[in-house]
Amino acid sequence: MSRQNNNLFPFRKLPKIEWPVTRTPNQPQNEPLFGYGQVQNTAGGYVWTVDDWMRLDRFLVLGSEGGTYYTSPRALALENAEAVLRCLQADGLRTVARITEVSTEGRAPKNSPALFALAMAAGLGDDPTRQAALAALPQVARTGTHLFNFLGYVEQFRGWGRALRRAVGSWYTEMPAHRLAYQTVKYRQRDGWTHRDALRLSHPKASSEQHQAIFHWVTQGWPSVGEVPHPDAVLRKIWAYERAKTASHEREIVRLVSEHNLPWEAVPTKWLKSPSVWEALLPTLPMTALLRNLGRLSAIGLLGPLQNANNLVADRLTNEDHLQKARIHPIAVLAALTTYEQGKGMRGKLLWTPVPRVVDALNAAFYLSFGNVQPSGKRVVLALDVSGSMGYGLIAGIPGLSPRAGSAAMALVTAATEQDYTVIGFSHELIPLNISPGQRLNDAIRTVSNIPFGATDCALPMQWALKNKVEADAFVVYTDSETWFGKVHPAQALGQYRAETGIQAKLAVVGMVANSFSIADPNDAGMLDVVGFDTATPQILADFVRG
Ligand code: CA
Repeated sequence: MSRQNNNLFPFRKLPKIEWPVTRTPNQPQNEPLFGYGQVQNTAGGYVWTVDDWMRLDRFLVLGSEGGTYYTSPRALALENAEAVLRCLQADGLRTVARITEVSTEGRAPKNSPALFALAMAAGLGDDPTRQAALAALPQVARTGTHLFNFLGYVEQFRGWGRALRRAVGSWYTEMPAHRLAYQTVKYRQRDGWTHRDALRLSHPKASSEQHQAIFHWVTQGWPSVGEVPHPDAVLRKIWAYERAKTASHEREIVRLVSEHNLPWEAVPTKWLKSPSVWEALLPTLPMTALLRNLGRLSAIGLLGPLQNANNLVADRLTNEDHLQKARIHPIAVLAALTTYEQGKGMRGKLLWTPVPRVVDALNAAFYLSFGNVQPSGKRVVLALDVSGSMGYGLIAGIPGLSPRAGSAAMALVTAATEQDYTVIGFSHELIPLNISPGQRLNDAIRTVSNIPFGATDCALPMQWALKNKVEADAFVVYTDSETWFGKVHPAQALGQYRAETGIQAKLAVVGMVANSFSIADPNDAGMLDVVGFDTATPQILADFVRG
């Protein structure tokens, strides 16, 4: 989709200012702005289309699992796959580099869109692209689960040729043996794949005796598991895993866990009710596992009123260094917070009373997981689209996290860093929103979720500011850009705001679904598209607003 130039507008010469002000006669959103290269969105309004690179970013970060109000998950997945394909055709190496960057920097809540796009590149790219994609496999597929996920995707795009066999084989041979032992014990199967399948298909030549022993164990099992720990430090972990399977006393599991750092996935299910076992797991429990098991830890009483573990867990959750190193995405924290606060598990079997200290720590962890954001110091209007369509679909497939709920959380991150900000909501009317980072995150999300649904007019934030003489340096609009209701286009409303206030106000569009639309004029340097829940977004926003 090519973008047309503003100069095509035939009626009036655009004024020479820092960037073009839209001085066209007011047009309703259900008509295209003449000469501006707009497209019709699925709601029937006219907006711009983002380029395929922005589309790639939206897909990598937001995924397509939940679909949107207007598009089924399947149709959205196809649309995104087509955008990835266009990127691969335009510049395959750039596509692979971007996939790798978003994945390794932990910018997306889920790694599966990156693995999917990498599988596409490994199958549908030109020769150098396919090579680059397979070379990036260990960086993008960092765990056994990632690898299985990738294998599930890649078979849709190519066969098991020599290059794929070699890439998968290298995943095993180039990983240090101690890590490989951990990976094979921790992640054993996913998406119908096991390490045995992957090793049998790729049959790599072991790069060390330890690798050889691990491969042998994975493909053929370990015939005799004696009482004496394996003499080799690396293989001892596998020995401990095998011992744990047959252990008949709690104290034996506790000893195996604490002496051999077994991951919790390696502990047989029947022992996962034991507080002593979890006490042994806790000191080395990875951050992701901790986030996922807070409910369980409370249900078994390890976390509870005045328990020692409360402080230990809260301290770990709020350790910014650990959050960054473990690439904990704010959405993972938000998902943990939402589940933990409910006091019951997703399947409803596990019940617990949330510990307030832990809830507070999760709130803090959410903001910490974005890293240190330097504020813009400017006056910012944070405008949340709370129209009907924003209540539909799931960000990154997280249950309960609609684009509407997610935008409240995103807006609070900027609110927490900036001093001069105001938060408003809009649909076809303006809705004052009393939310702030001072309150619990879930209370803010509930406030936003409980607003009745309405039609969409993305011009309202600028019109509201003009009418109420609100001086703003930037409008940050969290939306799906499915605007259609207004009598004036958002870009025109911004132009009028700039013209009448003399403030060269900027507009940033935080895209909350992986569609192709934007209310930002691509030819206006004062407008910008960013991706909701990209961990880099708060800093990109602040830098853009600062100018
Ligand atoms: Ca809408």
